[in-house]
Amino acid sequence: MPELPEVETIRRQLECEILKRTVVQAGSHESEKFRPARDVEGQRFMALRRRGKYLLAELGNETELIVHLGMTGQLLIDNPELDLSVVDEYMRAWWLLDDQRTLVFRDVRRFGRIALVKKGDYSQIPTLLHMGPEPFDSNFDGDELWRRARGRRQRIKTQLLGQRLVAGVGNIYADEALFQAGLNPSLRSISRPQAQRLVDAIRAVLSQALERGGTTLRDYRNLVGEGSNQHHLQCYGRVGQKCFVCGFILRARIIDARSTTWCPTCQRR
Ligand SMILES: [Zn+2]
Repeated sequence: MPELPEVETIRRQLECEILKRTVVQAGSHESEKFRPARDVEGQRFMALRRRGKYLLAELGNETELIVHLGMTGQLLIDNPELDLSVVDEYMRAWWLLDDQRTLVFRDVRRFGRIALVKKGDYSQIPTLLHMGPEPFDSNFDGDELWRRARGRRQRIKTQLLGQRLVAGVGNIYADEALFQAGLNPSLRSISRPQAQRLVDAIRAVLSQALERGGTTLRDYRNLVGEGSNQHHLQCYGRVGQKCFVCGFILRARIIDARSTTWCPTCQRR
């Protein structure tokens, strides 16, 4: 699933392509999850922002087009791979722009979603409404994460995936950050110093991934191709291999329905 670095990479690349462009025509798959894509005809893209794993396109009429890529969603704009004359059964929405180019939302598994809301009104999208701080916000720190985690009974890995501690971290970067912070993913409470280590690790793994255009494991593509962070993962997906720090064999287990990899010595409970 695309996480913060992947969505932010797409945002940066897409912004310069669609900003100030007007949607001349729009269409979508019949599903309610994609139909709102049709309601932006005649509107102009005024800004493209990101919140967690959501893309928020501000339109001229004080509405926002919200795109969540889900598991396999891709946004493409006229590039050599994109030939609209060939019927693509995975194309879920498209927007013809006033420069004759087309923005396409492609989603093989259909876990993605498109919504159109009044600017800033996220009441229909609870994950977005209750989302924790952006990891690179200047006032986000270990104390803030510690306060948010305090009193919750879920495991720290599950809390990270829930988006309320901090925005934009999914399975890949949760495993990477907990490994780098030396925290066991099954912990149900963390100390203030541990929270600070986790914040530092989250920032480090996200910014490294961002520099590399994201992590491409299966479907993720940014506008210019694949990311390269998959070649630099320290923990995620490395079960059965030696820990780069201590040489012990990394283990994996399911934690709250999500596969989790960790080092039993570096991340001792
Ligand atoms: Zn280790």
